[in-house]
Amino acid sequence: MRIIFHIDVNSAFLSWSAVKQLKENPDAVDLRTIPSAVGGDVSKRHGVITAKSIPAKKYGVQTGEPVVKALQKCPDLVLVQSDFATYRAYSAAFIEILRSYSEILEQVSIDEAYLDVTELIEDSEGLDAVTLAAQIRKEIRETLGFTVNVGISVNKFLAKMASDFAKPDKTHTLYPEEIPAKLWPLAIRDLYGCGASTAQKLTQLGILTIGEAAGTQKELLQSYLGQKAGEYIYERANGRGSEVVHAESEKAKSYSNETTMSEDITVRNYEAKADPVLRALSEHVSARMERGQAKGLTVSVSVKTDDFKRRSRQMTLERPTRDAEVIYANAQVLLRELCFGETALLADGRGIRLIGVGMSKLDEGGYEQENLFDWMKTQEEEKERKQEQERVREEGEKKAEEQARQAAEKKRRTEQLGRMLENVQMRFGKQSLQKGVSKDTSGEKPEED
Ligand SMILES: [Mg+2]
Repeated sequence: MRIIFHIDVNSAFLSWSAVKQLKENPDAVDLRTIPSAVGGDVSKRHGVITAKSIPAKKYGVQTGEPVVKALQKCPDLVLVQSDFATYRAYSAAFIEILRSYSEILEQVSIDEAYLDVTELIEDSEGLDAVTLAAQIRKEIRETLGFTVNVGISVNKFLAKMASDFAKPDKTHTLYPEEIPAKLWPLAIRDLYGCGASTAQKLTQLGILTIGEAAGTQKELLQSYLGQKAGEYIYERANGRGSEVVHAESEKAKSYSNETTMSEDITVRNYEAKADPVLRALSEHVSARMERGQAKGLTVSVSVKTDDFKRRSRQMTLERPTRDAEVIYANAQVLLRELCFGETALLADGRGIRLIGVGMSKLDEGGYEQENLFDWMKTQEEEKERKQEQERVREEGEKKAEEQARQAAEKKRRTEQLGRMLENVQMRFGKQSLQKGVSKDTSGEKPEED
């Protein structure tokens, strides 16, 4: 039996913003103690809530809802702008502390990780799991200034469920013998990985709690929900899940395939050449994922241009997939964006020498997932995209201004020259000076005196 911890930062973005504010100004109000939220464009008051304080939660403020709606529920809600650079730094520091306890660590999002502490506990005289969890919480709280919940069990699913019990700064165990008391009374929608639509279907069938799902025949659940979802719900409701904490980094877990073109893809042959290459690559990636029984949430396309620049673009899907058609359709959009969008890789007669298609953010077991890290990445990319747009727009404006200035200067000079000619002609007659001022450019040097 393994001992697995799931460690989850309490209201991560909000806590991290609060800690940073307090660090900069120790007299500032601690955002965690008042109704507050991270999200959107604070000055314009739009966008969505990405994190909220526990006091804000009491007003019914929800993650993912529009800022406007949250403000209706809680007019005094204090809003702060997201600060991804800070979040990344705190996330890294948090993971580093965890890693000092055990190398068998699987980071599942920016603010949560599984830690296999079986050996550590076996090797440490008199150390039990709950004491170890308290030590980890204390170290994070005292050195980094924010709190975490620790869930303890024998597999990842149960540990994850446990960390979600009462918050903040708490340790909860959910060992197999505790399942009837601690897991089964929970509403079915609280089962990790059970999406809203699945929960609704089960509720309609009269299955309201996790315990009721656990007591339903697997085949029956499968006939209602489909093979995979039915199996997932049945197994998890009965407390079964993976005990393997994947120690490799999330980034390393990806499937990709790339190819070098015999002839560069350019504007001229794009329509004929690009799609068949993408299709072949997508099918190849899909087949490998099929063998690995993996699904991915992020599709990416990377290219190398004929001047050896590497560029890539990615998008996050609604749900994990390994379907070649879905990968292909998204890859088409991404390559078009790279070639003809803001980056305009095929402008000025450029060509593409190499194309790769990849799938990452793998999901190997669950069938639905919500990932804060993906969410954050999308936000961040969106921000970068906007900045890039802004930069291009500014550049365009500058260029237009410069062109207008040059045109005005040219006009001024022409007029000046015209006036000069008129003057000379008035004084010396029409033959005296031709408009042949470009005589010198014939290549002959004017004769010197
Ligand atoms: Mg969290």
